[in-house]
Amino acid sequence: MTVGLTLLRIPAPPLFSFTLLAVNAEIIAVGSELLTPFRADTNSLYLTEQLNLLGVEVVHKSVVGDDLKRLSATAEHALFRSAVVIFTGGLGPTEDDLTREAVAAALGVGLHRDEAVLSGLAQRFAARGWKMSPNNAKQADVLEGATVLPNPNGTAPGQWICGTFLGGQHIVILLPGPPHELRALFESECRDRLRTQLPPAFIATRVLKVAMLGESFVDARVSPIYKRYSEVRTTILAGAGEIELHFKSRAPSMDAAQARVDEVADAVEEELDDAVYSRNGEALEQIVGYWLQMRNATLAVAESCTGGLLAERITQVGGSSRYFLGGAVVYSNALKTELAGVPTDMIHRHGAVSREVAAALAEGIRYRCEATHGIGITGIAGPSGGTPQKPVGLVFHALASDGGTEVVERNFVGDRKRIRRFASTLALDMLRKELM
Ligand code: AMP
Ligand code: MG
Repeated sequence: MTVGLTLLRIPAPPLFSFTLLAVNAEIIAVGSELLTPFRADTNSLYLTEQLNLLGVEVVHKSVVGDDLKRLSATAEHALFRSAVVIFTGGLGPTEDDLTREAVAAALGVGLHRDEAVLSGLAQRFAARGWKMSPNNAKQADVLEGATVLPNPNGTAPGQWICGTFLGGQHIVILLPGPPHELRALFESECRDRLRTQLPPAFIATRVLKVAMLGESFVDARVSPIYKRYSEVRTTILAGAGEIELHFKSRAPSMDAAQARVDEVADAVEEELDDAVYSRNGEALEQIVGYWLQMRNATLAVAESCTGGLLAERITQVGGSSRYFLGGAVVYSNALKTELAGVPTDMIHRHGAVSREVAAALAEGIRYRCEATHGIGITGIAGPSGGTPQKPVGLVFHALASDGGTEVVERNFVGDRKRIRRFASTLALDMLRKELM
């Protein structure tokens, strides 16, 4: 029956007009469980993605426990900062579900028990043959002037209220905490309302990725460029051996927003030249895959300290069987000889972690697999096993190709996981540069 749903709808308030183009939003995730190590606020990630698609930027996020005073204080702060404020969670029937009360206090509006919502709740329980306990009734408490957003997947409806609060125009939205309820409700009730009530805006993004350069080095080179563009926000994210430059801009049309980010991204790319391996967010292993296919080439690997991480990364790419033949994890000296043909006396003379053995691994695996390119990696990932001559973090990376074998020696800083990640990235980047 649709009658229940129709009854639940309070007529939408008159169209609300924001004068500012740049409408900002913030998200308040409510729930004491989100302040423990066991639960993460994922709703705000979903909401941020959806808001960005509507041209709305999220400028602040909070996670607040189930506490009335802290919640209403957070709500007030949010209203001073942002035009759109979205709450998730705390709409349930229990004592600790306080979002409605806190928002009412912050907005300075009353709460009334909505008879239509209440009877909808009662029907929902009756339809399932359940008895509705009295505490459920508080889910029918509606902010004065709010539109009730029916929740197809749960008992707690959402609420939408817009008006002038704390001296500014605002849209305030209350959404349930369970992620599947929140998503369904956002899609059915919020997306179109936001689109019609907010001025049209579009957010464009670009991601450039850079391999094997330091974060401060990259920033020193490119900050004079991106600082010239006040309309584009640039962020630099550093990982083990990989740096991402994110460019983001908002404009009244997608073309305008895209043109802005492209202008900065292109200028930065020109500055960093071939250190930029990806212009649209692709992973390094994906780019290496493109190049191998383009060159009609194949690859085999012999990994010691990375223990298969390089092969794992390469084979994460769909279709990698077209260019990746395989290889061997050769942790012991015996297997370095047996599977990759490294001469035993070479290992005795130079040690398993050496320039010579790395080269022999790359050449041996290339020969045995009949690959166009062979990669060998040997090093000390730690935390033990280091010596003054060969400290933890020392890694030799070798690439064997038609033109010969290149070996790169590096001393990486970090824990075992980071050192292994660095080593696999450097090896992939050596191959990328060879193929370019
Ligand atoms: P509530 O609406 O506060 O009763 O939340 C119900 C359930 O939804 C919680 O126990 C969580 O499992 C989940 N939940 C609440 N808030 C979030 C959030 N921000 N991100 C992900 N899950 C959430
Ligand atoms: Mg809760």
